[in-house]
Amino acid sequence: DQVRISRALLSVSDKTGLVDFARALAERGIALVSTGGTHRTLREAGLPVAEVADLTGFPEMMDGRVKTLHPGVHGGLLAIRDNPEHQAALAAHGIQTIDLLVVNLYPFEATIGADRPEADCIENIDVGGPAMIRGAAKNHADVAVVTDVSDYAAILAELAANQGTIGTATRKALAQKAFARTAAYDAAIANWLTGRLDEAGPAPFRAFGGSLAQGLRYGENPHQRAAFYRTPGPARPGVATARQLQGKELSYNNFNDTDAAYECVAEFDPARTGAVAIVKHANPCGVAEAATLTEAYERALACDPTSAFGGIVALNRPLDAEAARRIVEIFTEVIIAPDASEEARAIVAGKKNLRLLLTGGLPDPRAPGETVRTLAGGLLVQGRDAATVDDMTLTVVTKRTPSEAEYADLRFAYRVAKHVKSNAIVYAKAGATVGIGAGQMSRVDSSRIAAWKAAEGAARLGVSESLAKGAVVASDAFFPFADGLLAAAEAGATAVIQPGGSMRDDAVIAAADAAGLAMVFTGIRHFRH
Ligand code: 5GP
Repeated sequence: DQVRISRALLSVSDKTGLVDFARALAERGIALVSTGGTHRTLREAGLPVAEVADLTGFPEMMDGRVKTLHPGVHGGLLAIRDNPEHQAALAAHGIQTIDLLVVNLYPFEATIGADRPEADCIENIDVGGPAMIRGAAKNHADVAVVTDVSDYAAILAELAANQGTIGTATRKALAQKAFARTAAYDAAIANWLTGRLDEAGPAPFRAFGGSLAQGLRYGENPHQRAAFYRTPGPARPGVATARQLQGKELSYNNFNDTDAAYECVAEFDPARTGAVAIVKHANPCGVAEAATLTEAYERALACDPTSAFGGIVALNRPLDAEAARRIVEIFTEVIIAPDASEEARAIVAGKKNLRLLLTGGLPDPRAPGETVRTLAGGLLVQGRDAATVDDMTLTVVTKRTPSEAEYADLRFAYRVAKHVKSNAIVYAKAGATVGIGAGQMSRVDSSRIAAWKAAEGAARLGVSESLAKGAVVASDAFFPFADGLLAAAEAGATAVIQPGGSMRDDAVIAAADAAGLAMVFTGIRHFRH
C-alpha cells in the first residue's frame, strides 16, 4: 500500500539538510508545518510553512517543554485513516492529518558528552519529540516517520519515483528505526541518571565489576561524588569487611587512609610483635613495634605527634584497655584492629565520634590481588605489591656489615617504606620510625624532610642529638646519586637499606664506605604513588 504525502510536520534540533529537504517537499506540493526554531529556519529560506501553534491553538510554552504535546498534533499522527470513528473525531475537532513526520531529538547525548551542568542535561531531555516519533511509528500504516538526516535523500527519491507516495516496506523500516532511536535515547537518559544517583557512584568502578556497598556523602572533596564498591572474590580482612562498632559513617578519605594504615600494620606478624601504624593522608606518620600495643602506640605517636592529630590508628593485635585509654587521649578519626577487649570497647565508647572498626583478622601481605587506578579514558590495573622484606635476600655492599640490631631496624624500616608514598625515606631506631619523608619529587628532598623530622623529634623531647643519630634509613628505590645517602649520613644514620640498581651504585657505595655506613641491597623496589 502506498501512502500519499500531503502534509509534513518538521521539528528538528539538528538542522543539517533541512532547508533543501523541505524545499523539495514543498515543490511537490506538500504542506509544511513546524515548531519554533525549525519554522524560523524554513521561513528565512523563503519556504511556505505553517506553525504548530496553528494546529494546537496554543503557543509554545515553558521554554519549549510544551510545543507539540496536543491532540491537534497527536490526533493528526495517530488517526487510522480508514477508521470512520477516527475520521469523525478528526472532523469534529478540526484536526488535520500528518502523513510525514520529520523529527530529530534534542541533543541529549551530546550535552552529557560535553559534561554540561545537570540542569542543561535535563533541559535536553526531549519529551514531545519522542512522543511524536512513537505516535507516527505506531501508525506507520498511514504515516512515514523520518528520524535520521541521512534518510532525507532516499525519501525524496521514493516520492519522485512513486508519484508522491511512500510504500509500506519503507514506512515499516522507518518505524523500526524510529523505535530503535527512542529506545537508545531513553537508555542514554537512564544510564546518565544511574551515574547521577548518590547511591550509584562513578561509572568506572561499575566497569571494574564491583558491587555497590555504600554511597558516600562525597569524595576526596565536597564537590566530588563518591561511593564504595566491593570487588568480587574473597575479601582481605580490612576496612571493606570490618564491623564498625561506633562513630560516624566512614568518609571517602577515611576509607582510603584506614586501608593504608591497616595494610601497613599487617606487615607485622602479631605472633612476633605488637605493632601500631598511625596514618594521615594515606601516609604513615609513625609506625612502631613493641612488646605491648601501648608502648608501640607511644613510640609511633612520638615520631610525629603533630601530624598524628586526627589520624587513623591501626593495630595488628586486639585492642586492649591500656592502649585504648592512651589512644583516646588525642583526637583520632578511626581505630582499626583485628578485635577489641570488652573493656577497650567501653573506653572507646566514651568518644562518641571515634570510629572503631574490628576486622576479625589481618590481611595477608603476601596475598595476590589487584590495584586499580582510573585515568582519562581507561583503567590501569596491576598486581598489588605483595613483596615483603622477609622474603628478600639482603646483600651487603659496603665494607661494614650491619650489626644484628641494625639488621632488625633495616627490615623494620623497609617494611614501613613500602607503605610510604614515593619518594619514601624512612629513619628507624629500635623498632620505631623517627623520621619519615614522603611523596617528594626528589629523593634528596625526602631525605632532608625525614632528617628534619628526626631533628624536630629531638627538639620536642629536649634531647640534644637528632633522633636520626644511630638510626638506620630505608629508601623505597635506589639513590640515583650519593647526595640523598650523604644527607642520611650527616643526619647520623649508621646503616642503609635500598633496592640498589642505579647506574651510579659504585659511587653511592663508595660514599657509604667513606661515611662508615653499612648498606644492604634488597633487589626489590617498593614504589608507591
Ligand atoms: P525547534 O528548533 O523547531 O524549536 O525545536 C525542535 C525540537 O523540539 C526537536 O528536537 C523536537 O524533537 C523537539 N520537540 C518538539 N515538540 C516538543 C515538545 O512538546 N516538548 C519538547 N520538550 N520538545 C519538543
